[in-house]
Amino acid sequence: MVETPASAAPSLWHGRWANEADTQAFATRLAACPAIHNATLTLQGDLGAGKTTFVRHLLRALGVRGRIKSPTYAVVEPHSAVDGPSGPTGAPLAIWHFDFYRFTDPREWEDAGFRELFASPGLKLVEWPERAAGLMPAVDADIHIEPEDTMPITSDEDADSPRSVSFTALTPTGQHLLAALQP
Ligand code: ADP
Ligand code: MG
Repeated sequence: MVETPASAAPSLWHGRWANEADTQAFATRLAACPAIHNATLTLQGDLGAGKTTFVRHLLRALGVRGRIKSPTYAVVEPHSAVDGPSGPTGAPLAIWHFDFYRFTDPREWEDAGFRELFASPGLKLVEWPERAAGLMPAVDADIHIEPEDTMPITSDEDADSPRSVSFTALTPTGQHLLAALQP
């Protein structure tokens, strides 16, 4: 058994998004942390949990403009934070939004160049990482989103509703991001 020293930085943050404004506020805090410029974050939670919604708020907060497509059919959507921070070469920060929901053929990993994308400097956001298990490189932090049990008060599926959220830091980069979540 490995013991965690008492002085170790916390690696788990637990919180709540009461509504989508909270989701946006959480994304804005992460966007303000320089560690986000070169990080891999995984997003876990059922369909409709709010993974893509969170990613959209994060991309906006980082300066991505225009329509933000969901990558479900393409597996990956590249973005560029044109109104945001620059990457190491002075070019706008590169962001890749992956969704492995429909990923079934491991050969696609090499063929589609995912290895190179994950090795490139920038931000990689990954929905359904469990469907690319064994292929994904090291992850800096995992965000788990779970809708809270509430009585359906409306049939509008876009209506604000609360989420229970855990943020697990897995590397020093993840620890920096976790620190940015503290009030
Ligand atoms: P996923 O990518 O996890 O399948 P989506 O982000 O596509 O989920 O869908 C989440 C839905 O829930 C969206 O319609 C969004 O407007 C709605 N929603 C309601 N409340 C929230 C909240 N607090 N945070 C995120 N999404 C929310
Ligand atoms: Mg999604």
